[in-house]
Amino acid sequence: MVNYWLMITADFENVAELQPQGGCDDPSFYYLFKLKCGSCGELTEKETCVALERSAQIPGSKRTANLVQKCKFCEREGTVSLVTGKGKPLTQGLSEARKYTGLMMFDCRGYEPVGFLFQGGWTVETVAGTTFEDVDLSDGEFMEYDDKGKCSVMISNLKSRFVVAKWK
Ligand SMILES: [Zn+2]
Repeated sequence: MVNYWLMITADFENVAELQPQGGCDDPSFYYLFKLKCGSCGELTEKETCVALERSAQIPGSKRTANLVQKCKFCEREGTVSLVTGKGKPLTQGLSEARKYTGLMMFDCRGYEPVGFLFQGGWTVETVAGTTFEDVDLSDGEFMEYDDKGKCSVMISNLKSRFVVAKWK
């Protein structure tokens, strides 16, 4: 069993915080990424959706996982589960320091997560305290005008990567 962190960062302009709408553990937030089979190395063609509100029983086990899927190539079964209570939003401080935040941790068995896709369902909080809901980041950026703060708000240069979580 290997745990992976989904790490994200971006350039902020007058943005205080970026996170999934209901927080990192939002049950209805869909994390999209590809899966690389740990057995044969085959990469799924399309991104797979993994969300807390979705789960399936692991065949031959009493456990469930948020995703149970067979590799189309070698037919080996793998699972992915979200590890809650660990993810943190991307803050202005991290963005300014050009650091990544660990947005969500995934418990992956038989698969390696690859290539996270930014989509909808995000919340952006501005430095003036305005909140923009259901923000779509699939264009790779976000631009708005904050009436309260009388300033433009921008998120650009979105980046993501998966890294193996190290335990100490
Ligand atoms: Zn395979």
